[in-house]
Amino acid sequence: MSKLLLVGSAALAVAATATPALAKSAKQAERPNVIVVLVDDLGSTDVSFNGCPDIYTPNIDRIAAEGVNCTDAYISAPYSGPSRCGLMTGRYQQRFGAEGNVEGREESIKKRLGVLESEVLLSELLKEHDYNTCAIGKWHLGDHPDLWPNQQGFDYWYGFSGGGHNFWGQPQKDGAVIMENGKEVKCNKNTYITDDFTQKAVDFIDNNAEKEDPFFIYLAYNAPHAPLQAPKKYLDRTKHIYHAERSVYAAMILAVDDGMGRVWDALERTGVEDNTMVIFLSDNGGASMTIAHNAPRRAYKGNMFDGGIRTPFAMYWKGHIKPGTVYDKTISSLDIYATVATQAGADISKCKNPLDGTDLIPYLRGKNKSNPHDALFWRVCGGMEYAMRKGDYKLVKTWAQDEHMLFNITEDEIEQFDIAAQHPDLVKEMIAEYKEWDAQMMEPRWADLHKDHQILDFNKWEDYRKKASGNR
Ligand code: CA
Repeated sequence: MSKLLLVGSAALAVAATATPALAKSAKQAERPNVIVVLVDDLGSTDVSFNGCPDIYTPNIDRIAAEGVNCTDAYISAPYSGPSRCGLMTGRYQQRFGAEGNVEGREESIKKRLGVLESEVLLSELLKEHDYNTCAIGKWHLGDHPDLWPNQQGFDYWYGFSGGGHNFWGQPQKDGAVIMENGKEVKCNKNTYITDDFTQKAVDFIDNNAEKEDPFFIYLAYNAPHAPLQAPKKYLDRTKHIYHAERSVYAAMILAVDDGMGRVWDALERTGVEDNTMVIFLSDNGGASMTIAHNAPRRAYKGNMFDGGIRTPFAMYWKGHIKPGTVYDKTISSLDIYATVATQAGADISKCKNPLDGTDLIPYLRGKNKSNPHDALFWRVCGGMEYAMRKGDYKLVKTWAQDEHMLFNITEDEIEQFDIAAQHPDLVKEMIAEYKEWDAQMMEPRWADLHKDHQILDFNKWEDYRKKASGNR
């Protein structure tokens, strides 16, 4: 199958310039504004551009419709903390021991758990290139104040440092609060935090669109992660969904989609939509408890099957990415750093810490027809579970089944048929390659037995199935 399906003329339009009244200097016109919209625990197929049948997300879909839909996109971890560490450093997070979620806020602060300060976050690199930078929403790269966004390249921060927060903006039991630049926001100032986060992004666009230097907004909604909470105005639009949990989850996604609509409005109003790159993805697969849909991917968040590590992925950049592009080669969330940094004018071959991602633009434009990655790797719990994707094949070693499984993802996207026994040499080869990668990684710096690691209780599962068979 063609790896790059272009709609219409193959010629790519040159970036259109802003209206004269809002014209930018040549300096800014060369470098795009960037908005990374990261959502939390979104199912692989819970946006309509990826075929979701019961949740309609026109404003998120617009990123793909007017840009590219990357249909074979992975994140670097099956849950939040490590996934965000990978995204923001452009490197396998196992290189600096950030392999698990942090158990509790107190311990996280005491032990300074999270990203290492020796890492250069995308925000820090963009700051060096004079970007105006803003982080909104969930952080999860460290609860210690030294690791907060303002200390790591962000001019402005509105959100919370941990892995989750109630959606009404009230203080959490562990003392976590919504903060603005590290100072508590009184909870009566919050409405529904998904809406609040959107408002902050819109304000940042309004305040920065006319500046000479471009802006970078990391808009990290904690929706549709638990707790399942949504105001009536969104719930009124999901009455068609029979399952109560999923109807609330869907309402939370609609809040993000409405938010994306307001972001588009702001980009158009300020005349910068022509020179703003917008990237949309989730930090990990959908969770079973929210009745997310990852189908046809197997399993859920916390898992090495594709349901845990695949994400919807769309990218818009007018004049550079042809509208309606569908790109089906394997890419990674680690590529965002290299892609954005390159367009910002950085020479990524000179990064202090070598990157694991690659600049996607030549691939998405059809200029480079090879694979962006020879192989991708995943590891949790210091290697109790791991996986590797190479071409059509995926190697999976899970905790539950202490053996290697092999799938041909292209022919068997639901990972139904373990073909390891038929391909012993390939399995051996892939294990060797995994071990080579593994040897470059650090041991996890903290224990990784978080509840997010939704491991199938294999014994219970087997028992249940045995009983169901009536021993026939
Ligand atoms: Ca997550």
